[in-house]
Amino acid sequence: MKIVVAVKQVPDTESRIRIAPDGRSIAEGEVNWIVSPYDEFAIEEALRIKEKKGGEVVLVSLGPDRAQSALRSGLAMGADSAIHLKDPLFEATDTLGTARALAAAIKPLGADLVLTGQQGVGGDNSQVPGLLAELLDLPQVTVAVKIEVADGKATVEREVEGAHETWETSLPAVVSAQKGLNEPRYASLKGIMAAKKKTIETKDAAALGLDASALVPKVRVAALEGPPARPAVRMIEGDPDTQVKELLRLLHEEAKII
Ligand SMILES: Cc1cc2nc3c(=O)[nH]c(=O)nc-3n(C[C@H](O)[C@H](O)[C@H](O)COP(=O)(O)OP(=O)(O)OC[C@H]3O[C@@H](n4cnc5c(N)ncnc54)[C@H](O)[C@@H]3O)c2cc1C
Repeated sequence: MKIVVAVKQVPDTESRIRIAPDGRSIAEGEVNWIVSPYDEFAIEEALRIKEKKGGEVVLVSLGPDRAQSALRSGLAMGADSAIHLKDPLFEATDTLGTARALAAAIKPLGADLVLTGQQGVGGDNSQVPGLLAELLDLPQVTVAVKIEVADGKATVEREVEGAHETWETSLPAVVSAQKGLNEPRYASLKGIMAAKKKTIETKDAAALGLDASALVPKVRVAALEGPPARPAVRMIEGDPDTQVKELLRLLHEEAKII
């Protein structure tokens, strides 16, 4: 089986995010970059399917130079090879442009299965997997919590409100990973050393047959704002009875949550 995993590099959720002076993007200076956690589930699942069925796992990431470290992390987990999509034209594109570049890179690979995360943490658009399925003309199953592959088909469980759905799809297909699909492995020292020797092929827009018009964003981020500053802590004075009454009053009248 050939399994392709779309891997996005995102800011670590523990990083302190600051808005850049343009008011539309984040200041990257203090950001620590990681593989999007949902994409780690996708990589882990690809490796587990490969371990059962044989085959190969190819990672594809679109991003600037730093995206190579996300690809190296996936290679250290056990993926076989990686493709880095890098071009100044990709840097200001939207989800459609991202999906077009990913689709152009993935199409010639002849994948049996394309795995993605259900959302890229930080951007959280949850659009790329659907766009990718459409551009590749493949069926799609979203938010997978279990994937079984056999006889040219995949059986995929999805978590929906209060229930689990089981879907069957022909392969190839695009399946997006939800939390609960698996527990991603840590890269071993041997894996980290081996990853240094694995190939990362780099492709730009021209190599993918894309011209600038395919990558012009149709939507743009108009503004980015941090959450409002947290109000100062208020201490409630008095004996326990008074404190409880005052707390209930504040929750009811000011916070309006009861
Ligand atoms: C400088 C800059 C300018 C930008 N300008 C715009 C803009 O004008 N308009 C706009 O809409 N967006 C813009 N973006 C956002 C950028 O296009 C996002 O990467 C894209 O929208 C995907 O967002 P997401 O993480 O929310 O994707 P989602 O759809 O939430 O991602 C779901 C899954 O798709 C796959 N995936 C997504 N992105 C990638 C990737 N890059 N490489 C590999 N796999 C991927 C992963 O498997 C991921 O788990 C900009 C980003 C930057 C850094």
